[in-house]
Amino acid sequence: MDIQTGKYDPLTHLADERFAGVRLRWGPTGEGRWATTQWWTTEAGTPMGTITLRRGLTSAETRSTLAHELVHVERGPCATTEAATDELVALDEGITDFVAAARLLPTAALAGLSEGVAHRGVETVALELEVDVRTVEVGIALAAAAAAWADADGDA
Ligand SMILES: [Zn+2]
Repeated sequence: MDIQTGKYDPLTHLADERFAGVRLRWGPTGEGRWATTQWWTTEAGTPMGTITLRRGLTSAETRSTLAHELVHVERGPCATTEAATDELVALDEGITDFVAAARLLPTAALAGLSEGVAHRGVETVALELEVDVRTVEVGIALAAAAAAWADADGDA
């Protein structure tokens, strides 16, 4: 999180010492994929690996995709083991999307997201927030889930 702007920058996050073993490169990522990430964790818990981003992504797509891949690296290969089922892989992707959206979208933006999309359209809102359309869609679901959780939890 940038102290001056309050904006999360995944490139700054990647420069953090804890990601010293993680490299970022641009190259082929496979049909329909914006990124591939190979990573592992050392016995000491240090993340190691390579994040490959597809060439030609916009800055908003790059920002959103890198934020997503960094969550994968932080969380570890929890759904990529041989024991992982399709359901576990899908759950892991959803959790990763939610964490990345929570980082990329400030709380004030999350609060007005659904209304903003209804009035200006998802592409415009995504441009304004410098994220991809998927992150806006995930943000709407995240805001709804967080609001429902807060209601169920009272005022605590
Ligand atoms: Zn993913």
